[in-house]
Amino acid sequence: MRWGADGKVRHLDQAHPHLRQQPPSSQSDRTIGTPVEQLELATVVKVSQAVSGEIDLKKLIDTLMVIALEHAGGDRGLLIVPRGDELRIEAEATSVRDTVEVHLRQTRVAPTDLPESVLHYVIRTQDSLLLDATDESPFSGDEYIRQKRCRSVLCLPLTKQAKLIGVLYLENSLTSHAFTPARIAVLKLLASQAAISLENARLYSDLRHADAYLAEAQRLSHTGSFGWNVSSGEIFWSEETFRIFGFDRSVKPTLEHVTQRVHPEDAERVQHFIERAARDGGDYDREHRLLMPDGSVKHLLVVAHATKDDEGGLAFVGAVMDVTATKRAEEAMHQAQAELAHVTRVTTLGELAASIAHEVNQPLTGIVINGAASLRWLNHQPPALDETRSSVESMIKDAQRASEVIHRVRALSKKTEPEKAALDINDVIQEGVRLMQREVFGHATSLRLELASALPPVVGDRVQLQQVIINLAINAIQAMTSVPERQRELLIRSQAVESDQVSVEVVDAGTGIDPEHADRLFRAFFTTKAGGMGMGLSICRSIIEAHGGRMSAANNAGPGATFQFILPSGSAQR
Ligand code: ADP
Repeated sequence: MRWGADGKVRHLDQAHPHLRQQPPSSQSDRTIGTPVEQLELATVVKVSQAVSGEIDLKKLIDTLMVIALEHAGGDRGLLIVPRGDELRIEAEATSVRDTVEVHLRQTRVAPTDLPESVLHYVIRTQDSLLLDATDESPFSGDEYIRQKRCRSVLCLPLTKQAKLIGVLYLENSLTSHAFTPARIAVLKLLASQAAISLENARLYSDLRHADAYLAEAQRLSHTGSFGWNVSSGEIFWSEETFRIFGFDRSVKPTLEHVTQRVHPEDAERVQHFIERAARDGGDYDREHRLLMPDGSVKHLLVVAHATKDDEGGLAFVGAVMDVTATKRAEEAMHQAQAELAHVTRVTTLGELAASIAHEVNQPLTGIVINGAASLRWLNHQPPALDETRSSVESMIKDAQRASEVIHRVRALSKKTEPEKAALDINDVIQEGVRLMQREVFGHATSLRLELASALPPVVGDRVQLQQVIINLAINAIQAMTSVPERQRELLIRSQAVESDQVSVEVVDAGTGIDPEHADRLFRAFFTTKAGGMGMGLSICRSIIEAHGGRMSAANNAGPGATFQFILPSGSAQR
């Protein structure tokens, strides 16, 4: 008729009169093609606006289901969304009298929910499907349709760029032909809009979840993140960073906010490093303290990585970690270790008592002898003053020697805070050894010192380092008690390594280290000696590590073992 082939139409009418009785828009065509003229503009705009503006997933689903049911004239509707390999019912809507009730369900699709054959057809073809109870169709045999006797069923795919986002299923159990072409046209439009909105809302909800997880993780780990665009000066802080710096979220963070909180004693250093980072764009990994408005102090670890912003300018992304609790624990541990070190030092001094007594006794004997001699010189007629003078000078020297020994013993036995100073390690070795002379002698051991000259100074606590040397030397002497006397040689060697480190080795010719014990030597309470405490080496190691150094032990090529510690020199420490 459209082509104007009137003769042919007449001919067909005569030959097949029953064709004329069919309605013009064929309902037996199960996939739906609706002319655009059937859409009512006002409805279209309303529907489109209702779903396009909604970003909250739950509200969006609610709105979508209400509109779908109201506009389609169905009495029950389902929103089905594929989740991995599963099909899940997100929501179920039912019209109860004049209103639509929506329930969010989150359950697997079951044969009792809807005709599954219809659902699978729509998913496979991504085409809409309309069924009517009066029509015979390939789906009429579906268990659900037979049992529920639905009069009208409409199933619409929600697709976005050929990707299936979900399926909208509607049914009317009372009326056949409930879903008219005009209604279906609106629904199809709603479906395409809903697919976009659902996907957006889903992404937004995923993002919000991810953001919430991240915020929670940051809170738990006391780690905040930040971004800093150097050229624009713009700074981004995460929620935890605001909390760490103690600022309200409404504040727009600036570099001043950062520096304002820095502890005055660290301010200059931090300022210097920030300026350097901004200039040279290097990565940043440092600790500093914050002084909070309430007077409390926080320890902060700041790590930042230099990157480029969109315009190629310098920017940093990084993390600030509140390490106050760790720092406190570390301090408490150092305190406990210092006390333990003190206790073992006093114990060692007890062991060294004979040696020390000898060290003091020698100059005292000298004083007595020289005193008597002085008296004799004075009784001469005339008094021999030159000789007296030289005797008195010897007495003074001896007295100084005795006083020095006592001074050292007192320093070792006194409980003081560790004090760091620039030290010549050779002096420390010699002083330590002097207190042990009797011990060495008493064990028929020969002692040799190989001290390198012109070593760089190390920064450390004299008493603690002396304790390390004494501990290692005593262990060495004890390890040699079972070897023949002429082989008992104790060697203490100092040398420079890698230009900015100093190494001290205590070498013995004793039993050597049993390989089975090698990894346990430095553990607290590990001992192979009958009266041993097993604290010596563990304390040595903690002292050396607190000085930024490292400690090791190994068997010699020949008999015996070597214990070594390496300390950074003053110039190598940051
Ligand atoms: P203690 O001397 O009280 O046993 P240490 O911590 O000083 O505690 O030493 C732990 C163990 O390490 C010793 O019992 C010993 O078995 C081993 N050891 C230490 N120094 C030497 C050494 N120079 N040669 C061989 N073994 C050693």
